[in-house]
Amino acid sequence: MSNRQNKTDVILIGAGAMSATLGILLKELVPDWKITVFEKLSNAGEESSNEWNNAGTGHAALCELNYTDEKPDGSVDISKAIKINEQFQVSMQFWSYLVNSNLIRNPQNFIMPLPHMSLVQGEQNVSFLEKRFEALSTNPLFQGMEFSNDPEKLMEWIPLIMKDRTPDEPIAATKVDSGTDVNFGALTRMLFDHLESENVDINYKHSVNDIKRTSDGLWELKVRNLDSGTVERHTAKFVFIGGGGGSIHLLQKSGIPEGKHIGGFPVSGIFMVCNNPDVVAQHHAKVYGKAKVGAPPMSVPHLDTRFIDNEKSLLFGPFAGFSPKFLKYGSMFDLLTSVKPDNLLTMLSAGVKNVPLTTYLINQVMLSKEKRMEELREFFPNAKSEDWDIVVAGQRVQVIKDTEAGGKGTLQFGTEVVSAADGSIAALLGASPGASTAVHVMLEVISKCFPEHMKEWEPKIKEMIPSYGVSLMENPELLHEIHTSTAQTLGLVDKKQANPKRETRMLVEV
Ligand SMILES: Cc1cc2nc3c(=O)[nH]c(=O)nc-3n(C[C@H](O)[C@H](O)[C@H](O)COP(=O)(O)OP(=O)(O)OC[C@H]3O[C@@H](n4cnc5c(N)ncnc54)[C@H](O)[C@@H]3O)c2cc1C
Repeated sequence: MSNRQNKTDVILIGAGAMSATLGILLKELVPDWKITVFEKLSNAGEESSNEWNNAGTGHAALCELNYTDEKPDGSVDISKAIKINEQFQVSMQFWSYLVNSNLIRNPQNFIMPLPHMSLVQGEQNVSFLEKRFEALSTNPLFQGMEFSNDPEKLMEWIPLIMKDRTPDEPIAATKVDSGTDVNFGALTRMLFDHLESENVDINYKHSVNDIKRTSDGLWELKVRNLDSGTVERHTAKFVFIGGGGGSIHLLQKSGIPEGKHIGGFPVSGIFMVCNNPDVVAQHHAKVYGKAKVGAPPMSVPHLDTRFIDNEKSLLFGPFAGFSPKFLKYGSMFDLLTSVKPDNLLTMLSAGVKNVPLTTYLINQVMLSKEKRMEELREFFPNAKSEDWDIVVAGQRVQVIKDTEAGGKGTLQFGTEVVSAADGSIAALLGASPGASTAVHVMLEVISKCFPEHMKEWEPKIKEMIPSYGVSLMENPELLHEIHTSTAQTLGLVDKKQANPKRETRMLVEV
Protein backbone atom coordinates (compact mmCIF):
# COMPACT_ATOMS: atom_id res chain seq x y z
CA MET A 1 0.00 0.00 0.00
CA SER A 2 1.24 3.50 -0.72
CA ASN A 3 1.41 5.88 2.24
CA ARG A 4 -0.21 8.79 0.42
CA GLN A 5 -3.47 10.42 1.52
CA ASN A 6 -6.23 8.14 0.19
CA LYS A 7 -9.21 10.27 1.22
CA THR A 8 -10.57 12.77 -1.23
CA ASP A 9 -13.70 14.76 -2.01
CA VAL A 10 -14.28 13.59 -5.57
CA ILE A 11 -13.07 10.59 -7.56
CA LEU A 12 -13.40 10.58 -11.33
CA ILE A 13 -13.03 7.14 -12.92
CA GLY A 14 -11.64 7.31 -16.45
CA ALA A 15 -9.68 10.03 -18.23
CA GLY A 16 -12.00 10.60 -21.19
CA ALA A 17 -13.84 13.70 -22.38
CA MET A 18 -16.61 13.29 -19.79
CA SER A 19 -14.44 13.10 -16.65
CA ALA A 20 -12.29 15.92 -18.03
CA THR A 21 -15.34 18.16 -18.46
CA LEU A 22 -16.81 17.33 -15.06
CA GLY A 23 -13.41 17.81 -13.40
CA ILE A 24 -12.99 21.31 -14.82
CA LEU A 25 -16.57 22.32 -14.09
CA LEU A 26 -16.15 21.26 -10.45
CA LYS A 27 -12.71 22.92 -10.18
CA GLU A 28 -14.25 26.19 -11.39
CA LEU A 29 -17.23 25.90 -9.05
CA VAL A 30 -15.42 24.74 -5.91
CA PRO A 31 -11.66 25.20 -6.33
CA ASP A 32 -10.81 23.80 -2.89
CA TRP A 33 -12.41 20.38 -3.39
CA LYS A 34 -9.83 17.64 -3.75
CA ILE A 35 -10.22 15.64 -6.94
CA THR A 36 -8.54 12.33 -7.78
CA VAL A 37 -8.65 10.60 -11.17
CA PHE A 38 -7.98 6.94 -11.96
CA GLU A 39 -7.35 5.86 -15.54
CA LYS A 40 -6.31 2.38 -16.49
CA LEU A 41 -4.49 3.37 -19.68
CA SER A 42 -1.24 5.34 -19.76
CA ASN A 43 -2.66 8.63 -21.04
CA ALA A 44 -5.83 10.71 -21.18
CA GLY A 45 -8.28 10.41 -24.09
CA GLU A 46 -7.10 7.04 -25.37
CA GLU A 47 -10.46 5.27 -25.65
CA SER A 48 -13.60 6.63 -27.43
CA SER A 49 -12.47 10.23 -26.89
CA ASN A 50 -9.32 9.66 -28.95
CA GLU A 51 -9.33 11.47 -32.30
CA TRP A 52 -8.93 8.23 -34.28
CA ASN A 53 -11.67 6.47 -32.35
CA ASN A 54 -14.58 8.82 -33.09
CA ALA A 55 -15.76 10.89 -36.04
CA GLY A 56 -14.90 14.27 -34.54
CA THR A 57 -18.19 15.81 -35.57
CA GLY A 58 -19.29 18.74 -33.44
CA HIS A 59 -22.83 17.36 -33.36
CA ALA A 60 -25.17 20.33 -33.69
CA ALA A 61 -27.75 18.48 -35.82
CA LEU A 62 -26.71 20.51 -38.87
CA CYS A 63 -26.18 17.45 -41.08
CA GLU A 64 -27.21 14.26 -39.24
CA LEU A 65 -30.45 13.06 -40.84
CA ASN A 66 -31.20 10.67 -37.98
CA TYR A 67 -31.95 13.66 -35.70
CA THR A 68 -34.90 14.71 -37.86
CA ASP A 69 -37.52 11.99 -38.34
CA GLU A 70 -40.28 12.08 -40.91
CA LYS A 71 -43.65 11.94 -39.16
CA PRO A 72 -46.50 9.74 -40.48
CA ASP A 73 -48.19 12.86 -41.92
CA GLY A 74 -45.06 13.57 -43.99
CA SER A 75 -43.87 16.55 -41.94
CA VAL A 76 -40.42 16.59 -40.37
CA ASP A 77 -39.97 16.47 -36.60
CA ILE A 78 -37.11 18.84 -35.70
CA SER A 79 -37.48 18.71 -31.90
CA LYS A 80 -34.46 16.40 -31.40
CA ALA A 81 -32.33 18.55 -33.72
CA ILE A 82 -33.22 21.66 -31.70
CA LYS A 83 -32.30 19.93 -28.44
CA ILE A 84 -28.92 18.74 -29.75
CA ASN A 85 -28.09 22.11 -31.30
CA GLU A 86 -28.88 23.91 -28.03
CA GLN A 87 -26.69 21.41 -26.16
CA PHE A 88 -23.81 21.97 -28.58
CA GLN A 89 -24.07 25.74 -28.00
CA VAL A 90 -23.50 24.99 -24.30
CA SER A 91 -20.23 23.19 -25.16
CA MET A 92 -19.15 26.05 -27.44
CA GLN A 93 -19.73 28.59 -24.67
CA PHE A 94 -17.84 26.54 -22.08
CA TRP A 95 -14.88 25.97 -24.41
CA SER A 96 -14.84 29.72 -25.14
CA TYR A 97 -14.86 30.46 -21.41
CA LEU A 98 -11.83 28.15 -20.98
CA VAL A 99 -9.96 29.93 -23.78
CA ASN A 100 -10.90 33.43 -22.59
CA SER A 101 -9.78 32.54 -19.06
CA ASN A 102 -6.47 31.13 -20.39
CA LEU A 103 -7.26 27.73 -18.90
CA ILE A 104 -6.64 26.22 -22.32
CA ARG A 105 -4.87 27.78 -25.30
CA ASN A 106 -4.73 27.46 -29.09
CA PRO A 107 -8.33 26.37 -29.76
CA GLN A 108 -7.38 25.61 -33.38
CA ASN A 109 -5.61 22.55 -31.99
CA PHE A 110 -9.00 21.04 -31.09
CA ILE A 111 -11.69 22.79 -33.14
CA MET A 112 -11.79 23.82 -36.80
CA PRO A 113 -14.55 25.35 -38.92
CA LEU A 114 -15.91 22.94 -41.50
CA PRO A 115 -19.13 22.97 -43.55
CA HIS A 116 -21.65 20.33 -42.45
CA MET A 117 -23.66 18.83 -45.31
CA SER A 118 -26.40 16.24 -45.80
CA LEU A 119 -26.48 14.47 -49.15
CA VAL A 120 -29.27 12.26 -50.50
CA GLN A 121 -30.23 10.58 -53.73
CA GLY A 122 -33.60 9.43 -55.08
CA GLU A 123 -36.86 11.32 -55.42
CA GLN A 124 -38.26 10.42 -52.01
CA ASN A 125 -35.06 11.28 -50.17
CA VAL A 126 -34.69 14.58 -52.03
CA SER A 127 -38.25 15.52 -51.11
CA PHE A 128 -37.52 14.64 -47.45
CA LEU A 129 -34.34 16.73 -47.48
CA GLU A 130 -36.19 19.70 -48.92
CA LYS A 131 -38.88 19.46 -46.23
CA ARG A 132 -36.19 19.13 -43.59
CA PHE A 133 -34.46 22.21 -44.99
CA GLU A 134 -37.74 24.19 -44.93
CA ALA A 135 -38.41 23.18 -41.32
CA LEU A 136 -34.88 23.95 -40.09
CA SER A 137 -33.77 26.96 -42.09
CA THR A 138 -36.44 29.24 -40.64
CA ASN A 139 -35.28 28.36 -37.11
CA PRO A 140 -32.65 30.78 -35.71
CA LEU A 141 -30.47 27.85 -34.58
CA PHE A 142 -30.04 26.65 -38.16
CA GLN A 143 -29.67 30.00 -39.88
CA GLY A 144 -27.44 29.99 -42.94
CA MET A 145 -28.50 26.53 -44.09
CA GLU A 146 -28.55 26.26 -47.89
CA PHE A 147 -30.31 23.68 -50.07
CA SER A 148 -29.52 22.73 -53.65
CA ASN A 149 -30.58 20.04 -56.10
CA ASP A 150 -28.62 21.66 -58.92
CA PRO A 151 -25.72 19.37 -59.94
CA GLU A 152 -23.62 22.41 -60.91
CA LYS A 153 -23.98 23.95 -57.48
CA LEU A 154 -23.25 20.60 -55.86
CA MET A 155 -20.12 20.30 -58.01
CA GLU A 156 -18.99 23.60 -56.51
CA TRP A 157 -19.70 22.39 -52.96
CA ILE A 158 -18.43 18.79 -53.21
CA PRO A 159 -16.35 18.25 -56.34
CA LEU A 160 -14.91 14.93 -55.18
CA ILE A 161 -18.39 13.49 -54.71
CA MET A 162 -19.94 14.93 -57.86
CA LYS A 163 -17.15 14.26 -60.36
CA ASP A 164 -17.97 11.43 -62.82
CA ARG A 165 -21.31 10.73 -61.12
CA THR A 166 -23.94 9.48 -63.54
CA PRO A 167 -27.00 11.66 -62.96
CA ASP A 168 -29.57 8.85 -63.21
CA GLU A 169 -31.37 9.87 -60.02
CA PRO A 170 -32.29 13.21 -58.42
CA ILE A 171 -29.64 14.32 -55.94
CA ALA A 172 -29.68 17.13 -53.37
CA ALA A 173 -27.71 18.48 -50.45
CA THR A 174 -27.90 21.00 -47.66
CA LYS A 175 -24.90 22.94 -46.40
CA VAL A 176 -24.19 24.94 -43.26
CA ASP A 177 -20.85 26.73 -43.16
CA SER A 178 -20.81 27.10 -39.37
CA GLY A 179 -20.18 23.38 -38.73
CA THR A 180 -17.07 22.15 -36.92
CA ASP A 181 -14.55 19.34 -36.77
CA VAL A 182 -13.58 18.70 -33.16
CA ASN A 183 -10.50 16.79 -32.09
CA PHE A 184 -11.92 15.41 -28.85
CA GLY A 185 -8.66 13.60 -28.09
CA ALA A 186 -6.66 16.82 -28.18
CA LEU A 187 -9.35 18.62 -26.16
CA THR A 188 -9.39 15.88 -23.52
CA ARG A 189 -5.61 16.01 -23.17
CA MET A 190 -5.68 19.83 -22.88
CA LEU A 191 -8.33 19.61 -20.16
CA PHE A 192 -6.33 17.03 -18.22
CA ASP A 193 -3.16 19.14 -18.55
CA HIS A 194 -5.07 21.99 -16.98
CA LEU A 195 -6.45 19.76 -14.20
CA GLU A 196 -2.92 18.58 -13.44
CA SER A 197 -1.76 22.19 -13.14
CA GLU A 198 -4.57 22.70 -10.61
CA ASN A 199 -3.14 19.90 -8.45
CA VAL A 200 -5.74 17.35 -9.36
CA ASP A 201 -4.26 13.96 -8.51
CA ILE A 202 -4.24 12.06 -11.81
CA ASN A 203 -3.25 8.40 -11.72
CA TYR A 204 -2.64 6.65 -15.02
CA LYS A 205 -2.23 2.89 -15.24
CA HIS A 206 -4.61 2.55 -12.30
CA SER A 207 -7.61 0.30 -12.84
CA VAL A 208 -10.65 0.62 -10.58
CA ASN A 209 -11.68 -2.94 -9.77
CA ASP A 210 -14.37 -2.49 -7.14
CA ILE A 211 -16.63 0.15 -5.59
CA LYS A 212 -18.31 -0.29 -2.22
CA ARG A 213 -20.26 1.91 0.18
CA THR A 214 -18.62 2.31 3.59
CA SER A 215 -20.54 2.40 6.87
CA ASP A 216 -19.98 6.17 7.14
CA GLY A 217 -21.62 6.83 3.74
CA LEU A 218 -18.43 7.30 1.72
CA TRP A 219 -17.46 5.29 -1.36
CA GLU A 220 -14.42 3.05 -1.17
CA LEU A 221 -12.66 2.11 -4.40
CA LYS A 222 -10.28 -0.81 -4.82
CA VAL A 223 -7.71 0.35 -7.33
CA ARG A 224 -4.97 -1.76 -8.91
CA ASN A 225 -1.72 -0.01 -9.75
CA LEU A 226 -0.96 -1.71 -13.06
CA ASP A 227 2.79 -0.97 -12.85
CA SER A 228 3.46 -2.28 -9.36
CA GLY A 229 0.56 -4.74 -9.16
CA THR A 230 -0.39 -3.41 -5.71
CA VAL A 231 -3.97 -2.75 -4.70
CA GLU A 232 -4.83 0.60 -3.11
CA ARG A 233 -8.00 1.67 -1.33
CA HIS A 234 -9.32 5.19 -1.86
CA THR A 235 -12.40 6.82 -0.39
CA ALA A 236 -14.43 9.78 -1.61
CA LYS A 237 -17.67 11.58 -0.85
CA PHE A 238 -18.62 11.66 -4.53
CA VAL A 239 -17.69 9.30 -7.36
CA PHE A 240 -18.24 9.83 -11.08
CA ILE A 241 -18.05 6.71 -13.20
CA GLY A 242 -16.76 8.07 -16.49
CA GLY A 243 -15.41 4.77 -17.72
CA GLY A 244 -17.02 5.00 -21.18
CA GLY A 245 -17.94 1.46 -22.22
CA GLY A 246 -16.49 0.28 -18.88
CA SER A 247 -19.08 2.23 -16.88
CA ILE A 248 -21.74 -0.50 -16.81
CA HIS A 249 -19.49 -2.98 -14.97
CA LEU A 250 -18.47 -0.32 -12.45
CA LEU A 251 -22.07 0.78 -11.92
CA GLN A 252 -23.04 -2.83 -11.24
CA LYS A 253 -20.21 -3.11 -8.68
CA SER A 254 -21.55 -0.09 -6.80
CA GLY A 255 -24.74 -2.04 -6.12
CA ILE A 256 -27.02 1.02 -6.27
CA PRO A 257 -30.63 0.09 -7.08
CA GLU A 258 -30.71 2.65 -9.91
CA GLY A 259 -28.07 0.57 -11.71
CA LYS A 260 -30.14 -2.62 -11.76
CA HIS A 261 -31.95 -4.03 -14.81
CA ILE A 262 -29.61 -2.19 -17.15
CA GLY A 263 -27.41 -3.85 -19.75
CA GLY A 264 -25.13 -2.83 -22.58
CA PHE A 265 -24.94 -3.69 -26.26
CA PRO A 266 -21.56 -2.98 -27.86
CA VAL A 267 -21.35 -1.59 -31.39
CA SER A 268 -17.88 -1.20 -32.81
CA GLY A 269 -16.76 1.26 -35.45
CA ILE A 270 -14.43 1.09 -38.43
CA PHE A 271 -13.32 4.01 -40.62
CA MET A 272 -11.46 4.15 -43.90
CA VAL A 273 -8.76 6.79 -44.04
CA CYS A 274 -7.39 8.26 -47.26
CA ASN A 275 -3.62 8.15 -47.63
CA ASN A 276 -3.46 10.19 -50.86
CA PRO A 277 -2.89 13.92 -50.18
CA ASP A 278 -4.16 14.89 -53.66
CA VAL A 279 -7.53 13.31 -52.91
CA VAL A 280 -7.62 14.80 -49.39
CA ALA A 281 -7.07 18.27 -50.85
CA GLN A 282 -10.19 17.99 -53.03
CA HIS A 283 -12.70 17.72 -50.20
CA HIS A 284 -13.60 20.22 -47.50
CA ALA A 285 -16.74 19.25 -45.55
CA LYS A 286 -18.45 16.65 -43.44
CA VAL A 287 -20.99 15.05 -45.76
CA TYR A 288 -23.56 12.86 -44.04
CA GLY A 289 -25.76 10.43 -45.99
CA LYS A 290 -28.70 8.27 -44.97
CA ALA A 291 -28.32 5.12 -42.89
CA LYS A 292 -28.87 1.87 -44.77
CA VAL A 293 -32.03 -0.10 -43.96
CA GLY A 294 -31.41 -2.18 -40.82
CA ALA A 295 -28.35 -0.14 -39.82
CA PRO A 296 -28.24 1.42 -36.34
CA PRO A 297 -28.45 5.24 -36.34
CA MET A 298 -24.81 5.67 -35.34
CA SER A 299 -23.58 4.03 -38.54
CA VAL A 300 -24.83 6.72 -40.91
CA PRO A 301 -22.10 6.88 -43.56
CA HIS A 302 -20.19 10.13 -43.93
CA LEU A 303 -17.19 11.41 -45.84
CA ASP A 304 -15.33 13.84 -43.61
CA THR A 305 -12.44 16.19 -43.75
CA ARG A 306 -10.62 15.81 -40.43
CA PHE A 307 -7.88 17.79 -38.75
CA ILE A 308 -5.72 15.31 -36.87
CA ASP A 309 -2.05 15.47 -35.84
CA ASN A 310 -1.69 18.90 -37.47
CA GLU A 311 -2.76 17.54 -40.83
CA LYS A 312 -5.84 17.57 -42.95
CA SER A 313 -7.12 14.04 -43.62
CA LEU A 314 -10.18 12.33 -45.08
CA LEU A 315 -12.18 9.65 -43.30
CA PHE A 316 -15.15 7.60 -44.46
CA GLY A 317 -17.43 5.53 -42.24
CA PRO A 318 -18.15 4.46 -39.65
CA PHE A 319 -18.92 0.89 -40.60
CA ALA A 320 -20.62 -0.63 -37.60
CA GLY A 321 -19.55 -4.01 -36.35
CA PHE A 322 -19.98 -6.41 -33.49
CA SER A 323 -17.41 -7.25 -30.84
CA PRO A 324 -18.22 -8.42 -27.30
CA LYS A 325 -15.71 -5.87 -25.92
CA PHE A 326 -17.13 -2.83 -24.11
CA LEU A 327 -13.92 -0.82 -24.61
CA LYS A 328 -11.51 -0.84 -27.56
CA TYR A 329 -8.85 -2.03 -25.11
CA GLY A 330 -11.37 -4.13 -23.21
CA SER A 331 -11.90 -7.87 -22.75
CA MET A 332 -13.68 -10.41 -24.96
CA PHE A 333 -15.64 -11.35 -21.82
CA ASP A 334 -17.09 -7.85 -21.28
CA LEU A 335 -20.55 -8.65 -22.67
CA LEU A 336 -20.77 -11.99 -20.87
CA THR A 337 -19.67 -10.62 -17.50
CA SER A 338 -22.16 -7.75 -17.75
CA VAL A 339 -25.04 -10.22 -17.53
CA LYS A 340 -26.20 -10.38 -13.90
CA PRO A 341 -29.25 -11.99 -12.27
CA ASP A 342 -31.05 -8.59 -12.17
CA ASN A 343 -30.56 -7.80 -15.89
CA LEU A 344 -30.69 -11.36 -17.28
CA LEU A 345 -34.28 -11.07 -18.51
CA THR A 346 -33.69 -7.58 -19.88
CA MET A 347 -30.62 -8.81 -21.79
CA LEU A 348 -32.37 -11.94 -23.08
CA SER A 349 -35.34 -9.87 -24.30
CA ALA A 350 -32.97 -7.47 -26.02
CA GLY A 351 -31.18 -10.42 -27.62
CA VAL A 352 -34.45 -11.77 -29.03
CA LYS A 353 -35.62 -8.33 -30.22
CA ASN A 354 -32.34 -7.43 -31.87
CA VAL A 355 -31.52 -10.54 -33.89
CA PRO A 356 -31.72 -8.56 -37.19
CA LEU A 357 -29.43 -5.83 -35.80
CA THR A 358 -26.91 -8.37 -34.47
CA THR A 359 -26.95 -10.20 -37.82
CA TYR A 360 -26.43 -6.88 -39.60
CA LEU A 361 -23.47 -6.02 -37.35
CA ILE A 362 -21.86 -9.45 -37.77
CA ASN A 363 -22.23 -9.13 -41.55
CA GLN A 364 -20.62 -5.71 -41.36
CA VAL A 365 -17.60 -7.17 -39.52
CA MET A 366 -17.18 -9.74 -42.31
CA LEU A 367 -17.11 -7.11 -45.09
CA SER A 368 -14.03 -7.31 -47.26
CA LYS A 369 -12.08 -4.13 -48.03
CA GLU A 370 -13.47 -4.19 -51.58
CA LYS A 371 -17.05 -4.31 -50.23
CA ARG A 372 -16.28 -1.32 -48.05
CA MET A 373 -14.83 0.43 -51.10
CA GLU A 374 -18.15 -0.17 -52.90
CA GLU A 375 -19.95 1.71 -50.11
CA LEU A 376 -17.40 4.49 -50.30
CA ARG A 377 -17.89 4.70 -54.08
CA GLU A 378 -21.56 5.54 -53.49
CA PHE A 379 -20.13 8.78 -52.08
CA PHE A 380 -16.96 9.13 -54.09
CA PRO A 381 -17.37 7.31 -57.42
CA ASN A 382 -13.66 7.45 -58.34
CA ALA A 383 -12.29 6.14 -55.03
CA LYS A 384 -9.30 3.88 -55.58
CA SER A 385 -8.65 1.02 -53.21
CA GLU A 386 -4.92 1.75 -52.91
CA ASP A 387 -5.65 5.26 -51.58
CA TRP A 388 -7.58 3.98 -48.54
CA ASP A 389 -6.64 2.13 -45.35
CA ILE A 390 -8.82 0.69 -42.62
CA VAL A 391 -8.73 2.13 -39.07
CA VAL A 392 -10.45 0.50 -36.11
CA ALA A 393 -12.38 3.14 -34.13
CA GLY A 394 -13.86 3.00 -30.64
CA GLN A 395 -16.61 0.91 -29.07
CA ARG A 396 -20.01 2.41 -28.31
CA VAL A 397 -22.00 0.60 -25.66
CA GLN A 398 -25.69 1.27 -26.15
CA VAL A 399 -27.90 1.09 -23.08
CA ILE A 400 -30.42 -1.74 -22.84
CA LYS A 401 -33.24 -1.23 -20.36
CA ASP A 402 -36.93 -1.87 -19.78
CA THR A 403 -39.07 1.04 -20.91
CA GLU A 404 -42.80 1.68 -20.98
CA ALA A 405 -42.79 2.44 -24.69
CA GLY A 406 -40.48 -0.36 -25.86
CA GLY A 407 -41.08 -3.00 -23.18
CA LYS A 408 -38.41 -5.31 -21.72
CA GLY A 409 -34.89 -5.08 -23.11
CA THR A 410 -35.22 -1.96 -25.24
CA LEU A 411 -32.11 -0.68 -26.96
CA GLN A 412 -31.48 3.04 -26.35
CA PHE A 413 -29.42 5.20 -28.64
CA GLY A 414 -28.87 8.24 -26.41
CA THR A 415 -26.80 8.97 -23.32
CA GLU A 416 -28.05 8.39 -19.84
CA VAL A 417 -26.93 9.65 -16.44
CA VAL A 418 -27.63 7.07 -13.74
CA SER A 419 -27.18 8.39 -10.21
CA ALA A 420 -27.86 7.25 -6.66
CA ALA A 421 -30.86 8.83 -4.93
CA ASP A 422 -28.53 10.67 -2.52
CA GLY A 423 -26.37 11.98 -5.41
CA SER A 424 -23.17 10.43 -4.04
CA ILE A 425 -22.36 8.48 -7.20
CA ALA A 426 -23.25 8.90 -10.87
CA ALA A 427 -22.41 7.04 -14.06
CA LEU A 428 -22.64 8.06 -17.67
CA LEU A 429 -23.91 5.37 -20.01
CA GLY A 430 -24.42 5.41 -23.79
CA ALA A 431 -22.45 7.37 -26.37
CA SER A 432 -24.68 9.54 -28.49
CA PRO A 433 -24.62 12.44 -29.38
CA GLY A 434 -21.42 11.95 -27.45
CA ALA A 435 -18.55 14.20 -26.55
CA SER A 436 -20.14 17.17 -28.39
CA THR A 437 -22.72 17.46 -25.63
CA ALA A 438 -20.35 16.62 -22.75
CA VAL A 439 -20.84 19.98 -21.02
CA HIS A 440 -24.64 19.75 -21.03
CA VAL A 441 -24.51 16.15 -19.75
CA MET A 442 -21.98 16.95 -17.02
CA LEU A 443 -24.13 19.90 -15.90
CA GLU A 444 -26.94 17.37 -15.62
CA VAL A 445 -24.69 15.22 -13.38
CA ILE A 446 -23.96 18.29 -11.24
CA SER A 447 -27.60 19.30 -10.87
CA LYS A 448 -28.67 15.73 -10.07
CA CYS A 449 -25.89 15.10 -7.56
CA PHE A 450 -25.42 18.51 -5.92
CA PRO A 451 -28.94 20.03 -5.86
CA GLU A 452 -28.20 21.76 -2.54
CA HIS A 453 -25.37 23.78 -4.16
CA MET A 454 -27.12 24.79 -7.37
CA LYS A 455 -28.39 28.16 -6.16
CA GLU A 456 -24.97 29.16 -4.87
CA TRP A 457 -23.23 27.87 -8.05
CA GLU A 458 -25.64 29.35 -10.57
CA PRO A 459 -23.89 32.74 -11.01
CA LYS A 460 -20.58 31.01 -11.82
CA ILE A 461 -22.32 28.59 -14.20
CA LYS A 462 -23.89 31.59 -15.95
CA GLU A 463 -20.51 33.27 -16.18
CA MET A 464 -19.17 30.16 -17.94
CA ILE A 465 -22.29 29.48 -20.00
CA PRO A 466 -24.29 32.68 -20.51
CA SER A 467 -27.24 30.78 -22.02
CA TYR A 468 -27.54 28.44 -19.00
CA GLY A 469 -31.23 27.82 -18.29
CA VAL A 470 -32.32 29.85 -21.33
CA SER A 471 -33.66 28.58 -24.65
CA LEU A 472 -31.46 30.09 -27.36
CA MET A 473 -34.04 29.36 -30.02
CA GLU A 474 -36.43 31.66 -28.20
CA ASN A 475 -33.75 34.32 -27.67
CA PRO A 476 -32.35 35.05 -31.13
CA GLU A 477 -30.44 38.10 -29.90
CA LEU A 478 -28.57 36.13 -27.27
CA LEU A 479 -28.03 33.36 -29.84
CA HIS A 480 -26.50 35.84 -32.28
CA GLU A 481 -24.27 37.27 -29.56
CA ILE A 482 -23.11 33.78 -28.55
CA HIS A 483 -22.54 32.64 -32.15
CA THR A 484 -20.42 35.71 -32.80
CA SER A 485 -18.40 35.59 -29.61
CA THR A 486 -17.75 31.83 -29.59
CA ALA A 487 -16.73 31.86 -33.27
CA GLN A 488 -14.34 34.73 -32.53
CA THR A 489 -12.83 33.15 -29.42
CA LEU A 490 -12.52 29.67 -30.89
CA GLY A 491 -11.04 31.02 -34.13
CA LEU A 492 -13.87 29.79 -36.33
CA VAL A 493 -14.09 32.88 -38.49
CA ASP A 494 -12.27 33.83 -41.68
CA LYS A 495 -10.52 30.54 -42.36
CA LYS A 496 -13.36 28.89 -44.12
CA GLN A 497 -12.00 27.77 -47.43
CA ALA A 498 -9.57 24.98 -47.85
CA ASN A 499 -6.03 25.76 -48.61
CA PRO A 500 -4.68 22.63 -47.02
CA LYS A 501 -1.02 23.63 -47.11
CA ARG A 502 -1.74 26.94 -45.44
CA GLU A 503 -4.03 25.36 -42.87
CA THR A 504 -1.44 22.71 -42.06
CA ARG A 505 1.23 25.36 -41.58
CA MET A 506 -1.00 27.45 -39.41
CA LEU A 507 -1.74 24.43 -37.21
CA VAL A 508 1.92 23.64 -36.81
CA GLU A 509 2.98 27.21 -36.10
CA VAL A 510 0.78 27.81 -33.08
C1 LIG B 1 -17.06 5.22 -33.80
C2 LIG B 1 -17.43 6.38 -32.91
C3 LIG B 1 -17.74 7.61 -33.48
C4 LIG B 1 -18.10 8.69 -32.66
N1 LIG B 1 -18.30 9.90 -33.23
C5 LIG B 1 -18.57 10.98 -32.45
C6 LIG B 1 -18.68 12.26 -33.03
O1 LIG B 1 -18.53 12.43 -34.23
N2 LIG B 1 -18.97 13.30 -32.21
C7 LIG B 1 -19.15 13.13 -30.87
O2 LIG B 1 -19.44 14.11 -30.19
N3 LIG B 1 -19.03 11.92 -30.29
C8 LIG B 1 -18.73 10.84 -31.04
N4 LIG B 1 -18.58 9.61 -30.47
C9 LIG B 1 -18.85 9.44 -29.05
C10 LIG B 1 -17.72 9.97 -28.18
O3 LIG B 1 -16.49 9.48 -28.65
C11 LIG B 1 -17.97 9.52 -26.74
O4 LIG B 1 -19.26 9.90 -26.34
C12 LIG B 1 -16.99 10.15 -25.75
O5 LIG B 1 -15.68 10.08 -26.22
C13 LIG B 1 -17.14 9.43 -24.44
O6 LIG B 1 -16.24 9.95 -23.52
P1 LIG B 1 -16.05 9.23 -22.13
O7 LIG B 1 -15.17 10.07 -21.33
O8 LIG B 1 -17.39 8.89 -21.56
O9 LIG B 1 -15.42 7.80 -22.50
P2 LIG B 1 -13.97 7.38 -23.01
O10 LIG B 1 -13.32 8.40 -23.84
O11 LIG B 1 -14.12 6.02 -23.58
O12 LIG B 1 -13.15 7.31 -21.67
C14 LIG B 1 -13.39 6.37 -20.67
C15 LIG B 1 -12.09 6.10 -19.96
O13 LIG B 1 -12.33 5.31 -18.81
C16 LIG B 1 -11.28 4.39 -18.67
N5 LIG B 1 -11.74 3.28 -17.85
C17 LIG B 1 -12.74 2.40 -18.13
N6 LIG B 1 -12.89 1.53 -17.11
C18 LIG B 1 -11.96 1.86 -16.17
C19 LIG B 1 -11.62 1.32 -14.90
N7 LIG B 1 -12.24 0.26 -14.39
N8 LIG B 1 -10.61 1.90 -14.20
C20 LIG B 1 -9.96 3.00 -14.71
N9 LIG B 1 -10.24 3.53 -15.91
C21 LIG B 1 -11.24 2.97 -16.63
C22 LIG B 1 -10.96 4.00 -20.11
O14 LIG B 1 -9.67 3.44 -20.24
C23 LIG B 1 -11.11 5.33 -20.82
O15 LIG B 1 -9.91 6.04 -20.92
C24 LIG B 1 -18.19 8.52 -31.25
C25 LIG B 1 -17.86 7.28 -30.68
C26 LIG B 1 -17.46 6.23 -31.50
C27 LIG B 1 -17.06 4.93 -30.86
